[in-house]
Amino acid sequence: MVLAHQHNPIVALREFVDRVSPFDPDPDGGPVVSVDLRLRAQTVTFELTEHTARALCEALHRYYDPADVGPCDRCGKRRIDHNLRCLDCGHVNGVFGQVLLEHAERMRRQEQELQASPGAEP
Ligand SMILES: [Zn+2]
Repeated sequence: MVLAHQHNPIVALREFVDRVSPFDPDPDGGPVVSVDLRLRAQTVTFELTEHTARALCEALHRYYDPADVGPCDRCGKRRIDHNLRCLDCGHVNGVFGQVLLEHAERMRRQEQELQASPGAEP
C-alpha cells in the first residue's frame, strides 16, 4: 500500500504541520516563515510559526536516507551499493570487504612463496 505522503510533498507537509501544531507553545504568535510547495499546477503556501518552522528544520536535519550506509572506507565518497561496494572506487566496505582484502593478501603471499621456492617453475 502506497501512502499519499510518500509521493506528495504537499500532503506530507500538511500532515507534518497537523502533527506538530498541537504542541506549539505560542499558537497565536503568527507565522515567521512561509513555504511554497508547487506540484504540477497546484501551489500550496504553508505559513509556519516559529515552533513548526523549527520542527521542520529538525525533521529535515534528522532525515536519514535508507540507502546511506556511510562513507567509503577508501575514498570517502557516499555512493555505496547494497553489497557495500563503492560505486566510485570499487572498494568493498565493511567486514566482508575486510575479509576479501585479507583473502587477497593471503593469495598474493602464497603466490610469492610458490615463485620463490627452489623447485618452482620460472
Ligand atoms: Zn570508494
